[in-house]
Amino acid sequence: MISIKNLHKSYQMGSSSLHVLKGIDFEVEEGELVAIMGSSGSGKSTLLNILGMLDTADEGDYILDGVEIKDLDETKAAKYRNKFLGFVFQSFNLINYKNAAENVSLPLYYQGVSRKERQQVALEYLDRVGLKEWATHLPSELSGGQKQRVAIARAMASQPKVLLADEPTGALDTKTSYEVMDLIQQINDEGNTILVVTHEPDIAQMCKRIVMLKDGVIVEDKKVKQVKAAAHV
Ligand code: ADP
Ligand code: MG
Repeated sequence: MISIKNLHKSYQMGSSSLHVLKGIDFEVEEGELVAIMGSSGSGKSTLLNILGMLDTADEGDYILDGVEIKDLDETKAAKYRNKFLGFVFQSFNLINYKNAAENVSLPLYYQGVSRKERQQVALEYLDRVGLKEWATHLPSELSGGQKQRVAIARAMASQPKVLLADEPTGALDTKTSYEVMDLIQQINDEGNTILVVTHEPDIAQMCKRIVMLKDGVIVEDKKVKQVKAAAHV
């Protein structure tokens, strides 16, 4: 599903340059649930943003679902991004003046889905995350966990090949974090490929594989022997 080879990324800051990713090699198969760990500043978000086509690498190869992601113009990049990828962020990134259903259906609008189908799909996905009754509520009327579930419904409604989550539980208390991870595990059980950036070891233990980033390289890549079921903690 994902194959990257010798990926490098530096940030230019005036006359100095910060080498953040220093040759990352990484493969993800369809259906995996991978945690990307590492201390703050280790390059987790940079890597996820490149995988999510929100940013480009300086060097290296990236193949996503058989498509080489390189030198794409912005229109093509946007097309692949919509088609292949779903995003979930720590800060939810919902639109405050739109209700839950409108937030879920907005990406579908940009994909040219008809109004009627958008409404239907939005309700279907809100139902899947247990929030059908909250469809007409604004984000300000939802708890943090509910907001993140709306964000997950929004990401999944386009049926992406890969769901990318950057610290999805970073702004949530422990109980709510586990509820969100329970949902992520359920979505993975349905066969979806998911990458979760986290710096919390207990959250990583709820994934099937843990990749550790340090100083711009992968220092460890291991299968989780006993995946923690989020629903039972
Ligand atoms: P993490 O998500 O693991 O905390 P990041 O990928 O966000 O790490 O950042 C890695 C390093 O790159 C940090 O030192 C950060 O300050 C720097 N960095 C991130 N984004 C930018 C940017 N747009 N411009 C300059 N430096 C950046
Ligand atoms: Mg980060």
